[in-house]
Amino acid sequence: MKPYAALSVDVDTVATHLQGYGYWGVRDDGLVYERALPRMLDLFGALGIRATFFVVVEDALRYPDLIRELIHQGHEVACHSLTHPFKISRLNESHLYDEIVYARSVLSQLTGQPVLGFRSPSWQLSERLMGMIAEAGYWYDATAYPSPLLLLAQFEIARRGQKGTPREWGKLWNQAFGQRMPYLVRTDRGDFLELPVSTLTPLRIPFYHTLRWMLPRSLWRWMCGGLRQTGYVTYVFHAVDFLGADTDPIDRRLLPHPGMRLPLQYKLQEARRVLTEELGAYRIVPLSELPTVQLSRIREQLRAEAMA
Ligand SMILES: [Zn+2]
Repeated sequence: MKPYAALSVDVDTVATHLQGYGYWGVRDDGLVYERALPRMLDLFGALGIRATFFVVVEDALRYPDLIRELIHQGHEVACHSLTHPFKISRLNESHLYDEIVYARSVLSQLTGQPVLGFRSPSWQLSERLMGMIAEAGYWYDATAYPSPLLLLAQFEIARRGQKGTPREWGKLWNQAFGQRMPYLVRTDRGDFLELPVSTLTPLRIPFYHTLRWMLPRSLWRWMCGGLRQTGYVTYVFHAVDFLGADTDPIDRRLLPHPGMRLPLQYKLQEARRVLTEELGAYRIVPLSELPTVQLSRIREQLRAEAMA
């Protein structure tokens, strides 16, 4: 039987990406939901692949039919916060509650089923966030980013003038060199499973589509060869990986973002190549269907029954 690999997509709009570069107040152009997502559905459908889509709830609410279509096609819809605040780790309790707990209930109503997973904006995680994730009742969180690139990414966000990114570099250091395999997080508000982004040895490069545009293909393929030894494989797309500079009217301020200047056909071909070659030897599933998540739920139910 093929080993499992989990596929996830961060559904960040062009306006959200632009905020990451310090451009605020940009109206969303609709490209991600109206063009990128349908292209993903076509490709995944053609390959018989299902994935987890992390949506920002206030965006998803504008596209209820598309969200229903994702569910209908067997994909998992999970929560990427209510409004994607870049400074989520510094929000006060009531704002944090809205972004994590209230967001889950709104999204569950939209999808018609309990939302199981959470991923925090810009890979930020802290004890306060973990408490709130447990309180919300998520089964799993998929934010941990156990790679030295976390330090670079957070530094880059801070440099672009995003006030409110974590100042606690010591804690970030611990996360960057933290556990690479799934682990149980216990908080006084409950437990959940943490599913880190899987990383490629020996440099702990996150296995993540944006980096494919930044690394020489030979290096990338060499590192992918080491995946089998890790025994835990997840892969991350961003929805903008399915937009092309030649076919879509992309805001020019986003063009410096990795991969954004490439033509659509090439990007679609590269996405297909990752799914059929690098991940060709795996059974690709949404994060909630990884055996480790299923097992932890069964254990949890047994424990609850034993206590009842
Ligand atoms: Zn995001």
